[in-house]
Order: sequence, then C-alpha cells, then structure tokens
Amino acid sequence: MKLYDSIIDESLKELETSRFSRQLYNEKDAWPTLEASEFIMQRDACFELGGSGEPSVNYTLVTTSGKVTEDEVFLYGADIPEIKKDMAFARIVILETEDLKEDVDQEKAFQTIRNMEFVRYHVFPKGYMVRVSASSNQEQVRIEKSALKKGMNFFKVGAAYIKKYKELPEIKNVRVIFITDKELVDKLKDNAKKVDSITRTLTHILDGMPTDCGHCSMKPVCDEVDGLKELHLGKKKA
Ligand code: SF4
Repeated sequence: MKLYDSIIDESLKELETSRFSRQLYNEKDAWPTLEASEFIMQRDACFELGGSGEPSVNYTLVTTSGKVTEDEVFLYGADIPEIKKDMAFARIVILETEDLKEDVDQEKAFQTIRNMEFVRYHVFPKGYMVRVSASSNQEQVRIEKSALKKGMNFFKVGAAYIKKYKELPEIKNVRVIFITDKELVDKLKDNAKKVDSITRTLTHILDGMPTDCGHCSMKPVCDEVDGLKELHLGKKKA
C-alpha cells in the first residue's frame, strides 16, 4: 500500500522544521478508555481543542513502505496541562501495516481498511470527548477538568489510540501525531482533503464499482494518485 506515501512525505515535510516532543509507546501509559462516547458538559470542561472557530484537522494514512518503524506519539505545540484556552488541533495517524495484498484479495483489504477506519472514530479516552465531522475532516475535543487533574496528557491519550490499533493483526507500527500549533494545523488542511478523496476512491474500488473511467466521478483522483487506476484496472502496481 503506497497510495498515501506522497501525502505522508508532504505532511512530514511540513513538520520537519518545527519543534516537537516524542514518546515511545508503552501500553501501561495508555489513558483509560470507555466503551462509548461520553458527554462532557461545557461547565465541566477546561477547554476545547479545534473548537470556537479554531482550525481542526484529522486524517489517517496507511503505508507498507517502512516509514513508521516504532509505536510512538509526537506532539507539536502545547501539551494538555499547558493549555489555558481553546486552541487549534490536529490528530494525524500513520499506520504501518503488513502487505494488504489489495491487488489479489480485495475482500480482505476492504475489511482491513474498514476496521482501521472503525478504530479511527471509536477510541473514547475518559474525560476526553471527541466530536468528529468525517465530511470536513475535523475533530473537536472537549477535555474535562477532572481528567486534567488526574494527569491527562497527549502521550497518554496517544497511547490509548495505539493500544486500540494494535488489536488489529495487520498493523505493525503506529505513529500518532498531535498538533496544537495553529500555523501547522492550517498548513495540513489541504492534505486532509487529499487523504479523504483517496480513501473514498479506494473504498469504492474495493467495493467493486464498475471499471469505466470515462463515466467515473473518481477520475480526477485516479489521474493524480499513483496506483489507484492500476489497482482498479487490474495491474499489480498499487
Ligand atoms: S480506475 Fe477509472 S473507473 Fe476505477 S475509480 Fe479510477 S477513474 Fe474510476
């Protein structure tokens, strides 16, 4: 799976000159999670990430190119205990997976991609209310005052996401990137749109849509992204 590799490279290039903190994953660091989303009242929250008109970006990238060699959490900008007001927010996840063999077993690849998308929206850290807008690639987070008091930070929340992803056997390594620096979040917005169009096209292809490029609304994406056309039309390059 190399369809997202150019966007991974672009995203990492945008970030390469900025300061960051990094922590390797340790399961025992994972913040406790709930079975379902909780509602946190505004009066119980200390601030919102990606809310009140602040920019917000969320996207997930999949690769088999050896770009993520460890389970790790990166943070660009202020961490949760340092934040005093609503701020910009991005959560980017890069998943290094085993070969999904999407060119030979589309059913299996389709199921794996669905499972990965499921995890993207189904991690519920306690005291960390996530509201997502899949259509606009945005994610808002409301953080409960009590969670802050108990020591929540992005490395613990990131570890909770990694723990959930690691339940999928196809996933080898996970990098979770949190960003609260507004300038960086703004720079990554266009990448989110590109990721979304690739994922939608890929899902349609794996779902078995007809191979008629002349009448296909996905053509602009396939013309731009190396490997999609080959995948759909049967050449083994993706
Ligand atoms: S290969 Fe052609 S038919 Fe298939 S999704 Fe791309 S443009 Fe559409």
